[in-house]
Amino acid sequence: MMEVGQFEVRRRFELRYEQRFKCWLRKVDSELAFLPGPEGRSIDWIRDLYREHGELPASRFALLAFDRKARTTSGALKCVADAAGTATRLDIPTTPEFLPPSADLPMGNVAVAGSAIQSFDRQGVWAEVADAVQTYVADRHVTVWPLCRTHGLGLHAVVRGGEAIWWCNGWGHLDCAISPRTTQGKGRGGKWPQARPPEPGPAHR
Ligand SMILES: [Zn+2]
Repeated sequence: MMEVGQFEVRRRFELRYEQRFKCWLRKVDSELAFLPGPEGRSIDWIRDLYREHGELPASRFALLAFDRKARTTSGALKCVADAAGTATRLDIPTTPEFLPPSADLPMGNVAVAGSAIQSFDRQGVWAEVADAVQTYVADRHVTVWPLCRTHGLGLHAVVRGGEAIWWCNGWGHLDCAISPRTTQGKGRGGKWPQARPPEPGPAHR
């Protein structure tokens, strides 16, 4: 049985760790003018980097963060573009645009079909990539993709409960997860919704 003294030692260690982490994050943030996304967005990925690499200099942190986002975006785009291409029979860009960190752009930039990806956490990136592909399909090809399989409405890429999902706004329900890796063992098994032009009558053929 662990003694009270050991709990106190652990508590103090965790408190100290958290203080050092927050202090380091403020320093990195002030140097890079870097904010870890909107209020409430996950900073677990920053904690992961901190746990693995310790108190990295800001420039090194920026490179690792950029590399991480670039890889996640590439993987997500490959999957999302494949699903969108299959459903719409349209030619979807499969390569993100990259601008590595520089003096002018301390965190670099990763974009999909002209839409900058703001998130660094995996689920945030997947949702933004899905949104970017959806925007591309709508703007370039006037096609609504993907559609809710139950209601036929256009879906919205969001992060809910820590998971990137396609959400049906009109009826307030989940359609399916965006990232197939997170859908294993869950309800719909990651099957992607279909797509069709908004008005698939003869006039649009
Ligand atoms: Zn629906």
